[in-house]
Amino acid sequence: MTIRTRFAPSPTGYLHVGGARTALFSWLYARKLGGRFVLRIEDTDLERSTAESVNAILEGMAWMGLDYDEGPFYQTQRFDRYKEVIQQLIKQGDAYYCYCSKDELETLREEQRASKQKPRYDGRCRHRTAPREGVDPVIRFKNPTSGQVVVEDAIRGNVVFENSELDDLIIARPDGTPTYNLTVVVDDLDMQISHVIRGDDHLNNSPRQINIFKALGAKPPVFAHVPMILGDDGARLSKRHGAVSVMSYRDAGYLPEALLNYLVRLGWSHGDQEIFSLAEMTQLFDIKDVNKAASSFNTDKLTWLNQHYIKTAPLEHVAEHLRWQMDNLGLDLADGPELTEIVLLLRERVKTLKEMAESSVYFYRDVESYDEKAAQKNLNQTSLSLLETVLADLQQIEDWQAESIHSVIKNCAEKQGVGMGKVAQPIRVAITGNTISPSLDATLKLYGRERTLTAIERAVIWIKKHV
Ligand code: GLU
Repeated sequence: MTIRTRFAPSPTGYLHVGGARTALFSWLYARKLGGRFVLRIEDTDLERSTAESVNAILEGMAWMGLDYDEGPFYQTQRFDRYKEVIQQLIKQGDAYYCYCSKDELETLREEQRASKQKPRYDGRCRHRTAPREGVDPVIRFKNPTSGQVVVEDAIRGNVVFENSELDDLIIARPDGTPTYNLTVVVDDLDMQISHVIRGDDHLNNSPRQINIFKALGAKPPVFAHVPMILGDDGARLSKRHGAVSVMSYRDAGYLPEALLNYLVRLGWSHGDQEIFSLAEMTQLFDIKDVNKAASSFNTDKLTWLNQHYIKTAPLEHVAEHLRWQMDNLGLDLADGPELTEIVLLLRERVKTLKEMAESSVYFYRDVESYDEKAAQKNLNQTSLSLLETVLADLQQIEDWQAESIHSVIKNCAEKQGVGMGKVAQPIRVAITGNTISPSLDATLKLYGRERTLTAIERAVIWIKKHV
């Protein structure tokens, strides 16, 4: 059997990290077994589906590197096919028109409630022979009335549902448009999906879908319902817990491999190993090893993984992702060093690429003003002569390397009988506008000889004018 999995998001918002994890599990399972991974956009809810949301899904998948072999298929382009299947179900006696009005259904519900029964449609239109004038009917699936449906779930084992608990589900609305449980079955069937891996919020839909598969004479796929992701307070992870969209992690400066590594460990493990490359997780992942219990999202752990990948991933790769942050800050990269040099300089010091970008702005855009406190403390009469001396000494350097810069600063401090920081901090403020930077010699090396000298000159003039 060829393994065929799919990710089938509804484009009604951003791509949620829970959805991304489902996509990852489906992708891994297909990749591991040499199968095919299909992307299907479930956009039949015309009111809630948006083009921006479709873009967010496509963008998120591309950013994470979860490539699909087929699709994206759009359900809105398959309405004719759904209608065909609905007609087939009617013809073979497995579906029927229902003319019940809202009021009628409400009365039925009230009666059921009053007699302590579970509210459910009682199938009264199953036996109707004539249409009702002036009513656009819905179409209902004729669910079996007795027996059991067993969802053989790859994660949870067998989950048994009584048919008597399932009522006749609406498969087409009064305007003829199909509903979710019908479209999903037709698609999984037509797309020959072998494994449906999805969130466990769909577990209750599975027995209904299995019954439709059976009515169509088809063998249902294997189901695997992935437990949900919780926030730190134990409630289902949602916006109020903070960032939940995949792209917000890109924006916040996370590498996709950090997010993927984090997501794969949410509900799946391989011993106590924490770090998995994509290749490694592809090799080791198995859907049956996914936990039954829900797992909690922990941003600190994600950040820890992000730091790990920023430190260890190939420089060019990190630089490529850093480029996005730099562009976002509106920096012209032609005005400064190669991004790989920035990564090298800062990767041990930051948690995110956003932080890396924000703390290297001065390499691409000269500081326009000094931080007030930093200037007060470091750009004053005492530092004036130190800066003038070190400037003259730095001007003598021909080979602009970290070592030569370091010894000039050190010698200057010794000559003046002060600690090295007394010379270094004013230079730091002159270059960065503030008092924080990586080691000064490496920073100046990268900042460049001419720019360094000019920036110190500028600081000297500033002191003369302001102090
Ligand atoms: N479109 C559904 C959703 O976004 C998923 C359906 C499925 O995976 O079967 O929740």
